[in-house]
Order: sequence, then C-alpha cells, then structure tokens
Amino acid sequence: MDKVSKKSSAKKKAAKRRRARKPMTRSQMMQAVHSEDTKPEMIVRKALFEAGFRYRLHRRDLPGTPDIFVQKYGVAIFVNGCFWHQHGCKLTSRPKSNSAFWNDKFDRNIVRDIKTQHELSLLGYRVAIVWECSLRVEGVADAGNMGAALTLERLIDFIKSDDETIEL
Ligand SMILES: [Zn+2]
Repeated sequence: MDKVSKKSSAKKKAAKRRRARKPMTRSQMMQAVHSEDTKPEMIVRKALFEAGFRYRLHRRDLPGTPDIFVQKYGVAIFVNGCFWHQHGCKLTSRPKSNSAFWNDKFDRNIVRDIKTQHELSLLGYRVAIVWECSLRVEGVADAGNMGAALTLERLIDFIKSDDETIEL
C-alpha cells in the first residue's frame, strides 16, 4: 500500500468511527450520571476499607439504596454528585435548555433525598452524606475545600461516634 492510499484508508476509518459514535440519548445520559461506581464513591470505599471497615454496597432493601452501608455501626453513606443532587456549590448549575424538565427532575431528587434520610433514621440507622466537591483535591486548599483527606477523616470519626447524621 502506498503512502497516499494508506492515509485515505485511515481517514475513512476515522469517519466510520465518528458515525458509529451516536449522541447519547437522554436516558443514556441519566444512566451515566447515575452510574454506581463513580470515582468519588471509590475514594470513600477505598479509605474505609483501608481503615478496617467492612461494608455492603448498594443495598436495595434499604431506603434510597445507600452507596455504602456499614452494618456494624448502622451507618448508611451516600456519596452525592453535586450536580445531580443540587448541592448548591460551584459544581451545581441547572441546565438552561429544557429547564422545565431539569428543574422538575432536580426538585424530585432533592425531595427524595430528604425522605430517604428520614426513613433511614426511623429504622435506627445513621446517615452520612459525602458531597463530591468535598473529595476534590485541588492544588491549594482553600476555605471552601477542606480537602479529601480531612473529609475522609471526619467521615471515619462520624462512623465511630453516636451522632445521628453528618454532611461533609
Ligand atoms: Zn458540592
């Protein structure tokens, strides 16, 4: 194969790849946002495991299907994406297009989160909410971001405490 035809076949292949990559549908997009093994959750799981805690993941028999459930301490942990759960921090912005759809979706998420926490505490469980932004490691710590290490330390202290709930 000479240089020119090699080049054009590579070009064709790239075009084929582009065609194959269809835009995500709304439900695919929501699924991606909802994916269970998001990176912030992995950070928390790893830290707890290393600290000696054993836990179950995504227990569907508990209200809200907690991301992490530490049975021994009766602690349900939710690692919340700031956008999806509308934290109100700088990672939170409501899409401008289709705003009625998104506002409705977000408002329902917020109400569901409150209800979930209430149901878990009625069952005698303690609840920790870990916001995605509190796990973000930024080069320089500022007042708004205490840093992932401190967040994880506070979470571990909470698990061992008698406190009802914590938001980090
Ligand atoms: Zn946030």
